[in-house]
Amino acid sequence: MSETKKKRKLGLTTRIFISLLLGAVAGILLHYFAPHHYFIDDILINGVFYIVGQGFLRLMQMLVVPLVLCSLVCGAAAIGDTKTLGKVGVRTVVFYIFTTALAICVALGIAKLINPGVGMDLTALETTETAIAQQQPMSETLLDIIPKNPFSALASGNMLQIIVFAIIVGIILAKLQEKTQLIHNFFQQGNDIMMEMTMMVMSLAPVGVFCLIAKTFSGMGFDAFRPLLKYMAAVLLALLIQCFISYQALLKLFTGLSPVKFIKKFLPVMGFAFSTATSNATIPLSIDTLERKMGVSRRISSFTIPLGATINMDGTSIMQGVAVVFIAQAYGILLTPMDYVTVIATATLASIGTAGVPSVGLVTLSMVLASVGLPIEGIGFIMGIDRILDMTRTAVNITGDAVCTTIVACQNDACDKETFQRD
Ligand code: ASP
Repeated sequence: MSETKKKRKLGLTTRIFISLLLGAVAGILLHYFAPHHYFIDDILINGVFYIVGQGFLRLMQMLVVPLVLCSLVCGAAAIGDTKTLGKVGVRTVVFYIFTTALAICVALGIAKLINPGVGMDLTALETTETAIAQQQPMSETLLDIIPKNPFSALASGNMLQIIVFAIIVGIILAKLQEKTQLIHNFFQQGNDIMMEMTMMVMSLAPVGVFCLIAKTFSGMGFDAFRPLLKYMAAVLLALLIQCFISYQALLKLFTGLSPVKFIKKFLPVMGFAFSTATSNATIPLSIDTLERKMGVSRRISSFTIPLGATINMDGTSIMQGVAVVFIAQAYGILLTPMDYVTVIATATLASIGTAGVPSVGLVTLSMVLASVGLPIEGIGFIMGIDRILDMTRTAVNITGDAVCTTIVACQNDACDKETFQRD
């Protein structure tokens, strides 16, 4: 890669960061100091900011399905033998489940320490319309991984089904070699096209991020947070611990790589996830950053990153763990040790069932509350301030996927440590 190109890309990440900060400042200024005026409310905030921000988000989402399909088919074809593929798969899933359970334990610990719901009384809260997660039996959830019709899975963006289909196609391409060279080339070229498209869309990121953040912050003053400050503080603290202590300790332990370097290089991706609050839209950038800056081969990341964005939501389960304690305390309901075990189990399952798009964690929270008999109306109370937590937990969700990917890649000789060390 030429020196000038490198410089341009470095410039882009910095620009994303600056626009994130500028967006937050602009949003807060607009909220507190701008008069309610047609031009500001309708043209600027709900017009320009909304259209440009959402337009950028849609462009990112447009990349996801074709990118995951092409890069996963190529990744599986490159690994070739099913034994290695199986080993990578099992390790990844075990790691994902372990970090989720760890995240919930951190969340419950912090929540019991801060006691966010003590002193609040939600018993008088009116029943609100709260979306209830559809609880389907475990057997159905498992069966649902197999697509009945791969084309409908692609059309509806069902990530797990796409992953399964793409891996099977990749394995067969590796097996049939020259016989299927044409199709193999088709996916490889598709992959190249999607990578180029990712770079094109990413060049718009500074503008998109600015508009998304400015719109969000202009709508929320600090007042909205006040009654729920303790709850928010508990969630944010647990998220920080998971992101900067638990993950980094695991990274150091399993790979010996520098956590500081990892965070520095991955920060723009976190910033991007924070602005968009969607793990799915972050998939292309995550794969690209892991490859370019950390030397993690696409062979691994093309499989583990989309899988993580679909089933590994540690940040979401942290919010759910704290929310359970908060709602129980606010309703004056005592949870038994057995209830906590149930919460750990159901929140881990809920994390698997939470799609990587904004706010879904709140919907699957109803499943966790129901499992220990807590009133789901409590969700209505925390809904108002969830956006900012959603943004933060999404950044943690995708960091968990990236740490796991780096560890699994290192264990499979698919991580170029020289690239990782390079500044
Ligand atoms: N927004 C989260 C994500 O995309 C999911 C959630 O917790 O609502 O990872």
